[in-house]
Amino acid sequence: MWDAIVDVANVCHSEDLYPLGAKGPYLDRLDAVVTAWRASHGADARIELVADKALLHAVDAADKRTIQRMVARREMSLRPVADTLVLDRAHEDALHVLSGDHFLDFRRLHPWIDRHPQRFHYWAQDADGVRFVPRGIKAEHHQRISRAEEIKEFREKRLDPVRHLEIMNTRWRCVDAVCLYARMWAGQLPVWPRVDAGARAVCPGCAGELEPLGERRQTRQVSLSDHADGHSIERVPLELGTNLVLGRGRIVNGYNLGSRQQRFGDAVRYVSRQHVLLRFEHGRAGEHVVAVDLGSSNGTEIERWNGVGYEPGRRLTVDAEVVLTASDRLVLGGGVRVEVSGRHFNADDLRRESGDAGGQATRLRDIDG
Ligand SMILES: [Zn+2]
Repeated sequence: MWDAIVDVANVCHSEDLYPLGAKGPYLDRLDAVVTAWRASHGADARIELVADKALLHAVDAADKRTIQRMVARREMSLRPVADTLVLDRAHEDALHVLSGDHFLDFRRLHPWIDRHPQRFHYWAQDADGVRFVPRGIKAEHHQRISRAEEIKEFREKRLDPVRHLEIMNTRWRCVDAVCLYARMWAGQLPVWPRVDAGARAVCPGCAGELEPLGERRQTRQVSLSDHADGHSIERVPLELGTNLVLGRGRIVNGYNLGSRQQRFGDAVRYVSRQHVLLRFEHGRAGEHVVAVDLGSSNGTEIERWNGVGYEPGRRLTVDAEVVLTASDRLVLGGGVRVEVSGRHFNADDLRRESGDAGGQATRLRDIDG
């Protein structure tokens, strides 16, 4: 079974195909890859072609006519972003995927990718033609994935990264007299603000404009999700030198998961009122986040990343401090997953990744090494 789907723009732009090192895009590269696939896996292998719409405006006039002809004959599909259809189709029909991408930003949505690395192929060109090589898909820990998602989000929403950073680097409070968030957290919002279409920071509770309270210190982001399906529910900033208590009910300096009961659903059922404390601090080896189980009824487990996957959870000893490495995660009461996210909104990183000529520097492939 060698039916395949091709990320066409990815192939046409590939400098690893003739003409080597040339930027392209060239449609000839697609011919070479399709021909090689059929030569290795049978002339009857069905091959689906999906291209980013942008490709049409990047190729020369002759290639453009060819693409238009192929689309008219339904030999190729055009999509604003090809990845989505490539992965949906690959999943539905168990197709092989020919692409240079690692699809990091899709791992949460498509958990099957990790389980089927053999279905992802890249190419190598030599005098004898094109050969296929494994793309090298492997399980990735949450930090790399959420970092990739973040960059994609900036790109897709066309957010001005500089303005977005200003918002993330500022403390906020809601002063709306009837807003539940304002009443729960009179001092300062413990969650990230939302950003509206006019690039203003608005309250996630009442959508009103927020009042700035000054600049944050160095900040990590704590991501809370449903452990059963990995679905992300809330992200909370954690500033250097501060504590954050996670629990259920009214908590000073904390985040009440019960305030999001609807979204957490059953996941929050076994979370205690004062469950776990997180602190972002300076340590001997730099900054790190420390976790302490505060005596929760149903416990906190730590799952360590060993380079290929998560090890089975080990229960934290009550009141003992444990240092979380960047890729570890916690599970509260078996239901709520806590990760110190790779989304760190570091100004220099974001400028480097998004500020380059033509926006090409934001392409995930460039950081996906
Ligand atoms: Zn509000």
